[in-house]
Amino acid sequence: MNKQTDVIVVGSGPGGASVARQLARAGKKVTLLERGPDYRKQLYYGTYLGALVYSDKHSFLYTKEGLNIIRPLMVGGATSMYCGSAARPPEWLKEKYHVDLAPYVDETMQEIGIAPLPPEQRGTASTRIAEAALDLGYNWEPLLKFMRPTHTKHFDCGAKCMLGCRCGAKWNAGEWVDQAVAAGCELVTEARVDDLIIDNKQIGGVRGKKHGQPFEIEAKVVVLAAGGIGTPMIMQRAGFFEAGHGMTMDTTTMVYGVSKERGIGNEPPMTWAYADDEIGYMLSTLIDPWLMYPIIMMLKGPQYPFTWHRWGRTMGVMIKIKDDISGGITLEGNISKPMTERDNFRLNHAAIVARKILVRAGADPDNIFITPLRGTHPSGTVRLCSMLDLNLQTEVKNLFVCDASTFPEALDRPTVLTILGFGKRLAEHLLNIL
Ligand SMILES: Cc1cc2nc3c(=O)[nH]c(=O)nc-3n(C[C@H](O)[C@H](O)[C@H](O)COP(=O)(O)OP(=O)(O)OC[C@H]3O[C@@H](n4cnc5c(N)ncnc54)[C@H](O)[C@@H]3O)c2cc1C
Repeated sequence: MNKQTDVIVVGSGPGGASVARQLARAGKKVTLLERGPDYRKQLYYGTYLGALVYSDKHSFLYTKEGLNIIRPLMVGGATSMYCGSAARPPEWLKEKYHVDLAPYVDETMQEIGIAPLPPEQRGTASTRIAEAALDLGYNWEPLLKFMRPTHTKHFDCGAKCMLGCRCGAKWNAGEWVDQAVAAGCELVTEARVDDLIIDNKQIGGVRGKKHGQPFEIEAKVVVLAAGGIGTPMIMQRAGFFEAGHGMTMDTTTMVYGVSKERGIGNEPPMTWAYADDEIGYMLSTLIDPWLMYPIIMMLKGPQYPFTWHRWGRTMGVMIKIKDDISGGITLEGNISKPMTERDNFRLNHAAIVARKILVRAGADPDNIFITPLRGTHPSGTVRLCSMLDLNLQTEVKNLFVCDASTFPEALDRPTVLTILGFGKRLAEHLLNIL
């Protein structure tokens, strides 16, 4: 493990996979270091047990304020447990920060086949929620999906989709890792990078541990793609004071309502969505998988797990807010993400709208409640135009960042398509300088 390479990529989520694949295909010597194993072939992949095995702290990772963070540590990163939703990068990325990802995103959408699900696969109850919202004047639209129902005979995972894809319909960054390896990239799993080798403001390589054994790898270029939590932790150990100071999370909650009809639990997650860009939030159709529901409800209060029997009739509207930059991550990995006054306003605004929609969709107004807050998009910890230049380079020459850390503000929408756009754009830049 002590050796030299052209490019080291740290982390195999969408950021790392896209850069590694493109550079390997162009003939560069690439080493991809991934902290977790590759669980995709395990029998328990995509099950409740799996979600406990591959998530950081067995899915019980919390901020100081009590936000639950699901952080899969495995080949494919968080796309191993995502909802397969896609959104084009926000307009403000181009207007305010002069980053135009459109050509890279167009190419990605075509390659993966990103599109809304056909109407008959958007779910009856989910569509009922969207229609109720439309009746009320909220312009809900079918959400773009990284899901290809034609790739499987059994497109019926429902909310369990979030535990990991078992049917094969959902695109996962692991697919691009496999393609990178096929093009000659060396993938080293269970290799955790802890520190950077920096000499005279120039990157020299990385240091880390594999199965407790230290390793050191030299490289001309290092791309950190360890995610919104992993990347700032590596940078802090290497002496970057600003990394992890402040973060965004697209802080999320769900509003649940029960009707007499079937709920959305057996339907694909997030098939419809709505964005209020003025106040700063997004709404979509979503419910927790059956067995996770009572666990999450315990956090809400002692009486809530007893609503479990209503899961089959529950309709859920997910809220994601465009949260302000606040809190951050410490050297030891402690995370804080306080809500600002503005965040609380956004959340309450969205909850009022979600409640109106659920009532119109047939939910009993007396049973509607909001679940505890969670954070599924830890990001904005090594921000573009603050710690990174427009090519995603840090103040250290040839040290780049390419993951959710780079977002200059909360995206408030699905992140993966934007990260893939960044990855393609960075790979193009690296091929020009290598
Ligand atoms: C439950 C859930 C649902 C979601 N749904 C959606 C959705 O529908 N659509 C969407 O667009 N987004 C969704 N997201 C968010 C999205 O998955 C993430 O924002 C995205 O995957 C982040 O990509 P990344 O490349 O920044 O990092 P990650 O995907 O987190 O990948 C980082 C990788 O780096 C590895 N790593 C970390 N530290 C180290 C280290 N020190 N050394 C080596 N390797 C390291 C990790 O193991 C991981 O594999 C969801 C997330 C969750 C948790």
